[in-house]
Amino acid sequence: MKKMLKNPLYVYGDEVVGVPSHLNFGQYMVTTMWNYGDKIAMINGITDERLTYRDIVKDAMNIAVSLTRIGVKRGDIVAICSENRQEYWSTFIGTSCTGATFTATNSAYTKDELLHVLNISKPKMIFCSQHAYKVHEKTLRSLSYMEKIIIFGTDRPPNTLLYNDLVKNNTNITLENFRAADVVGQTDTAVILYSSGTTGLPKGVMLNHLNILTTCNMSSTMNPKESSLTITPWYHTMGLIGNLRIFANGGYFVYLPKFDSDLYLKTIERYQIVQIVVAPPVLVALCKFQSNYDVSSVKLVYSGAAPLRSDTIKAVKDRFPNVTSVLQGYGMTEATFGVTRDSYDTAHLSKTGSVGRVVSSCIIKVVDIDTKAPLGVNQPGEIYIKGPLVMKGYIGKDRSEDFDDEDFFKTGDIGYYDEDRCFFIVDRLKELIKYKGYQVPPAEIEAVLLQHPSIRDVGVVGIPHADAGEVPRAYVVVQPEANVTEDEIKNLVKEKLSNPKHLRGGVQFVKEIPKNPSGKILRRKLREMSQIRNEAK
Ligand code: AMP
Repeated sequence: MKKMLKNPLYVYGDEVVGVPSHLNFGQYMVTTMWNYGDKIAMINGITDERLTYRDIVKDAMNIAVSLTRIGVKRGDIVAICSENRQEYWSTFIGTSCTGATFTATNSAYTKDELLHVLNISKPKMIFCSQHAYKVHEKTLRSLSYMEKIIIFGTDRPPNTLLYNDLVKNNTNITLENFRAADVVGQTDTAVILYSSGTTGLPKGVMLNHLNILTTCNMSSTMNPKESSLTITPWYHTMGLIGNLRIFANGGYFVYLPKFDSDLYLKTIERYQIVQIVVAPPVLVALCKFQSNYDVSSVKLVYSGAAPLRSDTIKAVKDRFPNVTSVLQGYGMTEATFGVTRDSYDTAHLSKTGSVGRVVSSCIIKVVDIDTKAPLGVNQPGEIYIKGPLVMKGYIGKDRSEDFDDEDFFKTGDIGYYDEDRCFFIVDRLKELIKYKGYQVPPAEIEAVLLQHPSIRDVGVVGIPHADAGEVPRAYVVVQPEANVTEDEIKNLVKEKLSNPKHLRGGVQFVKEIPKNPSGKILRRKLREMSQIRNEAK
């Protein structure tokens, strides 16, 4: 009998009813978005180009038909490597309609980073912006599994296809005669994104159709009747799934391809933006940037992807005079999107510093770090999550390490809930560093540095930083008699890894890296060493 009762220490989201789990999520988006008709769905904040819901759906159906014609089918992988641009959404939704899996990569990756993630998912085709193709052509051509490269824009390099040709070809498609490929929503992978999780190098996070359908079926976090401005990259869950949720709820957003404080504030003025969605370091930059743009239209600020400090919340309220709510959500790639949140319609219940309440369909328990016993109100411990939002697993990795015996996913984050079931994130148990909201897996930097013949051992940790949240610092043990400078080490990382992973926290030469008896780096000890050094300065 006891087994049928809810555990009083767990926090349960509302039950979700009516998620159409038999559907291909691409078909769900096509049908849902079609119903919003000629409403504007997105605006390019630089060119003012606008796409309506029907524009995106028509393009997505055309892409699906064309991809199928050139051989894409259920079980294949199709990638995108591009800055944020308008073709992204028809490519994403169209690929899903074919039954294939969509994977998004960061176009700012270096060659080694791109190779690492592509070798995990092994896509058969890739959509590229002109810029990404120019930078990565050689790498893409070297991959035996890559059959076709499809380019956005008007110039067609030799041996590539043009998106514009694929999207134009099938004029007789209508919503009535279009049908997405059948999938098994609970098991077919719809999307692969990349995350290092609690430890190690970036891994392929497999999200199935049901994961995406569940999050798209939830009520809106932002007010769909008001404008939003987003700049989060679309290869990351916050941009990719966050905007998909806006579409599923009939909202619209203005986007910018990348962040620039002046342009961002100017865009707020130009479009009279009401809601902004950003990672905390962007808020810090906006608050510090001097300008006379009129930002009085902004009423709601939504933050996610990294911890938001209380002094930033205060600065935001000073900077944006009419802001009534600074809300937060907490989530991760492995949970499709957010697992706790406050929303525009529950803003009056939000508490300063809280990341909100558990979302519907999700169960959260907070466990003691050592004993793994569930904890109660106001007791910080590791956050474990379960429900149809949680990924089916990492590609090629057994689930046993990342899930407990009740099938809860171990997030590696430390937090607690209060008497009103509001959650607060207080620390991170996992080794991940977050620079401006971007994932910086220390293992990736360590692997690069260990290739240097003069470096015997290395440990990388995040150092708190007022503007960026955290910056990576390397602790390095040099080989006896060897000579290597801090600049040489920093330059090696710059050469091999993309911007967020550069050693902005510096390099410290030490005699040894603290490790436990099985050889695991004691990162907490390294962080304590950095605190002692900083206090001594
Ligand atoms: P990602 O998969 O890149 O979205 O990273 C997820 C991780 O970012 C989480 O496991 C947390 O460590 C951190 N994170 C996300 N949202 C928040 C938040 N609101 N406050 C603190 N940390 C967060």
